[in-house]
Amino acid sequence: MTTIRIVFLGTSASVPQKNRFLSGLAMQIENGDVLLFDCGEGTQYQIMKYKVNFQKIVKIFLSHLHGDHIYGIFGLLSTMNLAERSNPLKIYGPPGTKMLLERFFGEKLENGFSYPIVILDTEEGFVCEDEGYQIVAKRTIHSVYTLSYAYIEKDRLGHFDIKKAKELNVKKGTKWQQLQKGKSVLSEENKVILPEMILGPKRRGFKIVIGSDGIYQEEDFVPFAMGADVLVLEATFSDINESKAKEKHHSTSRWSAIIARKAKAKKLYLTHISPRLDEEDNLEKQAQEEFPDAIIAYDGLEIHLNRKDLDKG
Ligand SMILES: [Zn+2]
Ligand SMILES: [Zn+2]
Repeated sequence: MTTIRIVFLGTSASVPQKNRFLSGLAMQIENGDVLLFDCGEGTQYQIMKYKVNFQKIVKIFLSHLHGDHIYGIFGLLSTMNLAERSNPLKIYGPPGTKMLLERFFGEKLENGFSYPIVILDTEEGFVCEDEGYQIVAKRTIHSVYTLSYAYIEKDRLGHFDIKKAKELNVKKGTKWQQLQKGKSVLSEENKVILPEMILGPKRRGFKIVIGSDGIYQEEDFVPFAMGADVLVLEATFSDINESKAKEKHHSTSRWSAIIARKAKAKKLYLTHISPRLDEEDNLEKQAQEEFPDAIIAYDGLEIHLNRKDLDKG
């Protein structure tokens, strides 16, 4: 059973390509909510094509205000309105996001849509939290203020040990349920039973890091991405264009792979692929020289994470 489904909606850099749309990534979490990271031109089509339920999008995280990452949001918000969406939508983005959308939509943004929209200009650090997870942002070095986002699940309580519950004489039923929620109960002998007496060690959740455009500074990006189950980073340039990457504030696939290795990521997906197609093969090879579990993402690529695999260690 899939716990988290990640879909790459667009993997091109700067301009659309025949087989690559512009930046966008959808993450469907366990409760069915969809978190959308960036919304490049064409995101609506890709959402339909790859069967993401767009009415389930509850939060949109914009990395920066370059066109290739945001031109799709105007159409998407309008379509949600035409489809008579009613559930609220939150949009997080770098400073200037709120003003940009307000200028575009004018008064309509306040109460002209069928659903409430909350826009929050965001800086690096804690962004938001919800049941079971939090989102944290980190800046990258790019030509404008740019944020990468980490989805970090909170630790979950350990497994319920039926044998121990019986040994300590805790009555089955409500008391077992309370213990499973982390609450203390009384045994049949009126002894206080703490949840840690019955539950196994806490279990970690998933960590997914969605890196955006820019150069990832090792000293602070490696700790930010540390231990990620899924790490998505950009790979606009290859080795031969290192100086161009520095000048344009983008990464090479090798630089991103070095970050993945140092951060002990489980898997690296490279995106933001330049239209210079002849470089594509080299990009993957150069990345794999540094980090074997690196692949070049493509539109429609899906990652399915299963909580059972995580519990296995
Ligand atoms: Zn870009
Ligand atoms: Zn950019």
